[in-house]
Amino acid sequence: MSRPTQVVLATNNPKKLKELRRIIAAEGLDVEVLGLRDVDPYPEPEETERTFEGNAFLKAEAAMRATGHCAVADDSGLEVDELNGMPGVRSARWAGPACDDDDNNSLLLAQLDGVPTERRTARFVCALAMVAPDGDRRVWHGRMPGHINDQPVGDNGFGYDPLFVPAGMSVTSAELTAEEKDSISHRGIAVRKFVDHLKGL
Ligand code: IMP
Repeated sequence: MSRPTQVVLATNNPKKLKELRRIIAAEGLDVEVLGLRDVDPYPEPEETERTFEGNAFLKAEAAMRATGHCAVADDSGLEVDELNGMPGVRSARWAGPACDDDDNNSLLLAQLDGVPTERRTARFVCALAMVAPDGDRRVWHGRMPGHINDQPVGDNGFGYDPLFVPAGMSVTSAELTAEEKDSISHRGIAVRKFVDHLKGL
């Protein structure tokens, strides 16, 4: 596969789009990143797989087929050791089909009620899949270890960020700037591996 001039990132999340554009620009790569709002609408697949990798490939494959462009998609979530790795692929809807981030965070805090800090270990994980029109399929992974705080702190980020204290830090990921979080985050790590791949083409 030669280096594509355009890549579709199969996401409706403007923060993910900005992040990939920022990293590609920082590397000086002449690759335009399109989001789903920049391409003709198509039916997005349901995330029915049981792994992050499987769901990321579902989304990238659908985007490549609909647009004809090289497509990438990420799937990510939080694994909590005390909950045997859950919420995992169910992170977005942990508290139910119509829940929001606050519901998920409240449920997680309740589930860890009374659990001491040393047993509150967790990690964010990300799989970033790429599907190219010539059939090339690849996946890159990233993880950010840490632990679950006993109360929400911070207004930045999204999802479980107000509860997540990255390893070696004393603040939650909701207290980091976007750039600070990108530099250590599961998604930042996976995205930089993809960008390294593009650079090598
Ligand atoms: P998605 O892969 O972006 O759909 O993320 C799935 C879910 O995992 C989100 O709805 C969040 O609940 C959680 N999640 C994934 N990445 C992060 C993160 O960086 N911070 C906080 N929550 C996250």
